[in-house]
Amino acid sequence: MGLTLVLNSGSSSLKFSLLDPETRRLYLSGLAEKLLVPTPQITFRSRDHTRTEALPAKGHKPAMQAILAELEAQGFKERVEAVGHRVVHGGERFKSSTRITPEVIAAIEACAALAPLHNPANLLGIRLALAHFPQVPQVAVFDTAFHQTLPEYAYRYALPGELYTRYGVRRYGFHGTSHQYVTRRAAELLGRPLETLGLISAHLGNGCSITAVRQGQSVDTSMGLTPLEGLVMGTRSGDLDPNIPQYLSDTLGLTLEQITELLNKKSGLLGLSGLSNDMRELEQAAAQDHAGAKLALEVFCYRLAKYVAAMSVPLGRIDALIFTGGIGENSAWVRRKTLKWLGGLGFQVDEERNQQAVRGQPGIITAEGSTLAMVVNTDEELMIAWETRAVLS
Ligand code: ADP
Repeated sequence: MGLTLVLNSGSSSLKFSLLDPETRRLYLSGLAEKLLVPTPQITFRSRDHTRTEALPAKGHKPAMQAILAELEAQGFKERVEAVGHRVVHGGERFKSSTRITPEVIAAIEACAALAPLHNPANLLGIRLALAHFPQVPQVAVFDTAFHQTLPEYAYRYALPGELYTRYGVRRYGFHGTSHQYVTRRAAELLGRPLETLGLISAHLGNGCSITAVRQGQSVDTSMGLTPLEGLVMGTRSGDLDPNIPQYLSDTLGLTLEQITELLNKKSGLLGLSGLSNDMRELEQAAAQDHAGAKLALEVFCYRLAKYVAAMSVPLGRIDALIFTGGIGENSAWVRRKTLKWLGGLGFQVDEERNQQAVRGQPGIITAEGSTLAMVVNTDEELMIAWETRAVLS
């Protein structure tokens, strides 16, 4: 039985999963992290065992070697039939997952201007895997591809046309793999064909985005040219008045680089609370009356609710709102507060169901007669493995 190795190569980490897309069984997974500092480490996880060890040197190469050594030691290396890679930005070139060839690598490189932190790191993983598995077919799965079905009136910014036609300035959207997976899974859980449904998927992790999915296709999404736009996130501001950078430059003398850093790394939940970007910590602090934490939670949920209403526009009818990602799957508080704002769209939370969903149980969290809201656990690795298999068959 052939297995799929899924690789997610980031700037300072290399994540892998080894799974069977047919049976959905996860055999082994792991995370090599802190790859840019002198104390890199790797953690391997199998069904009943977790082990962390130091890596001999910095960089992605020793991390990849450690992964290969583990696959070999456990007798899995020969069973790897395909490798699926997460790639952040596919621009307009990649409308679906694609088998990796030298031309595809060049095209991913060409998209790097749109994701300078991510695409080069993704390519590092691709090159290492090609070197170690030269005979195994490899597939690139893009965060942006699922959103290539957006109509032009949803993806264009109200900017001079040339900025789009010559420089590619448009909404691309991200988290596509997660939005695609949870909407598929929601249809499965509801026992209704995806092609008949209008779904809103809220992926709430460290990064947060929301997508309207009509008949299985993304028709609008909150992230834009980059993942900074839209919802409030852990450290990213999401939407703001586009004149704010100019104002910060005029009044504080900040450079564009400093402002970009502020909006991406020091804003969002962290900036609002002055405490943390971690929702768990904020919920605990809010329970002890921390003013910043309470405000951060309020702004987070209000912005999210506004976006749910906005995403109902292209759908007309909401068959279900899906909560996913670390916050969406675990924070009953965020779900309750958000749904409370959405009474006008027919949402009414069932608190017992909402609390039950906290324990990792997917399912409906609204009362009888309410517009449906549900929790679905995302699984981007499984989706990448499915996409990899689909491309290769
Ligand atoms: P990433 O986007 O990096 O994959 P995750 O999807 O794991 O991140 O989401 C991380 C977020 O989920 C953090 O803000 C974390 O606090 C939050 N989270 C995880 N567990 C809980 C929980 N039990 N209650 C509230 N928030 C949680």
